[in-house]
Amino acid sequence: MGQSIFYKFIILQVFPQGPPGPDPGARGEANIVSKIRKLPAAFAKLISSVLSTTVIDLNWQGRPRSIASALLRCEDFSALIDPGPASTLPELRQHLQQCGISVPKLNAVFLTHIHLDHAGASGTLVRENPNLKVYVHAKGVPHLLDPTKLLQSASRLWGDELPRLFGEFLPVPAENLVALGGGETIRLGSSPLEVLYTPGHASHHVTYFDPASATAFVGDTAGVSINGHPFVFPVTPPPDISIELWDVSLDAIAALRPKKLFLAHFSYSESPGAHIASYRKRLRLWRDLSADILARNLGESGAMHHFIEVAEADAAQYLTQEELSHYVFNGAVHLSWLGLVRYHRKRAEVTVNTTAV
Ligand SMILES: [Zn+2]
Repeated sequence: MGQSIFYKFIILQVFPQGPPGPDPGARGEANIVSKIRKLPAAFAKLISSVLSTTVIDLNWQGRPRSIASALLRCEDFSALIDPGPASTLPELRQHLQQCGISVPKLNAVFLTHIHLDHAGASGTLVRENPNLKVYVHAKGVPHLLDPTKLLQSASRLWGDELPRLFGEFLPVPAENLVALGGGETIRLGSSPLEVLYTPGHASHHVTYFDPASATAFVGDTAGVSINGHPFVFPVTPPPDISIELWDVSLDAIAALRPKKLFLAHFSYSESPGAHIASYRKRLRLWRDLSADILARNLGESGAMHHFIEVAEADAAQYLTQEELSHYVFNGAVHLSWLGLVRYHRKRAEVTVNTTAV
């Protein structure tokens, strides 16, 4: 009895040059074998033309599940969504190596926004790979060309801890930068990636959407949720949050009907509808809570402590003590308070100016 086609297929996988032993024999059978020989290459091509995503845990400050980067691959092309800060470059290199990729082989960096925990390593990666393209919203371009102002404002928030936490922030040369506005479709090999302008967390924030897997890489637009936990913690740092624009951005992300959200803090949320609804609700809660606290004139430090206390007590209803401390570490609640204060002050100024006119 002749060998089955399936058996020959398996043999071809193990012995691509042909199995040892007697020749397959009859001409018809040889034709079938030669057709089967072509399958693995076609199959491999099909597989490699699909965008694959690998989550990279950057283990920031030695704490797993704090900052995630995403390695995207299609055919021979590879890119990172948010490479993270320079302080986690050794971790990033190690993960890339495990995936058989080195920095000089990377084709692109897709930045969701330019905050240090997302974009800090970009300039160092470009220095190592001068062909690397860095995609960023047009409003972020000047700060990557010259990060002086960005670092000054980060120093005000983090003080002397800045270098230890985030490492060096090197500028990115103009020839490496690709400015985005939202609405573009960029390609990694043959895979399209749609760009969506999603301000709210920052005025220059974008989201990348992979239509094939319906995954939205949302950066910090959808808050903090560790490995798909249903509780979502807002991240509202200075200098330019806008709850109103955020609402519109969340609508735009929801309209894509994503199957998965990829969060920088941390990893996938696989119930985008519930996640976005919960996030929107808590964001409004924080807006109203901060407005209420500001109206009570508790003093700078008293107000901040009160906000942190109430926000953490709210989160504690949904999280274990260990989870809560991890969310608080990831979310930097004190910075969120400062961001909300600035947001309310800017709105009050606009109201005063409008009234004066
Ligand atoms: Zn972040």
